[in-house]
Amino acid sequence: MRSVSVCCQCSWFVSDGVGIGCAVFTYFLVVYAEFVVVFVMLLPEIPLAGVGLLHSILFTYLAILAVVAHVRAMLTDPGTIPLGNCTTENLKKLRLAEGQTVLRCTRCECIKLDRAHHCSTCQRCIRRMDHHCPWINNCVGEDNQKFFILFTLYIFIISLYALLLAVRQVLICTDRDWIGCTGVPMPSSILFIIFLVFEGLLFGIFTLVMFCSQVTSIARDETGIESLKNEKRARKQTMYENLQEVFGGNFSISWFSPFSGLSSKRTAFSFYDV
Ligand SMILES: [Zn+2]
Ligand SMILES: [Zn+2]
Repeated sequence: MRSVSVCCQCSWFVSDGVGIGCAVFTYFLVVYAEFVVVFVMLLPEIPLAGVGLLHSILFTYLAILAVVAHVRAMLTDPGTIPLGNCTTENLKKLRLAEGQTVLRCTRCECIKLDRAHHCSTCQRCIRRMDHHCPWINNCVGEDNQKFFILFTLYIFIISLYALLLAVRQVLICTDRDWIGCTGVPMPSSILFIIFLVFEGLLFGIFTLVMFCSQVTSIARDETGIESLKNEKRARKQTMYENLQEVFGGNFSISWFSPFSGLSSKRTAFSFYDV
């Protein structure tokens, strides 16, 4: 049975077997890429403290950013609406005009905010829900979209980086007749590099498509669900305003950092809390 554990807004984890499997597989793929790049391809160059060492450090740093973005996307509450908020007291606070109605979710029975949708995997209503992504074992919503976008961006970058390093390695090894140019002997080294190229191509294309679709949805001020349902909204914000909402505040280097969280912009909804 699927269940969701939430603790005082400080932890969030979706207990979904498929999602947990995908998340573990994602970490395995990153560790595999790190192993092949550093220990199979660059190891003979690292003691020389040259370009190989720089590539090792840079690739490892980018891989860490990808993993941190993934962990934060997975463990951040995507923007759940509090359960049990459909009380007479809260309805009064809405100061509804005569004949005006509010939507109530028939499944989790909360007051449904504008642009919120119910996720059957998370079993909660999520503010500005884009889609449920098994790769991060979580919904992509208002509060974790930044981490999801950074995850796709950094996975794309390390995929492209790994492909370029693989081409470089093949050129170096062809020049040396594949003798002493890799950290493991032939033919294991070739097999490792072939699987790395396959992984880089597959996930590089996949994450590039995901990244572009996320940027497009922000540019249009339209979530994935709204686009599918062809829901039209009266007021649309500019692309920069949308980016500010997703990444938190004015443009800065922190937009690209999975270590920095979002600014406190959620107070507008606090009156829904119970
Ligand atoms: Zn719901
Ligand atoms: Zn979900």
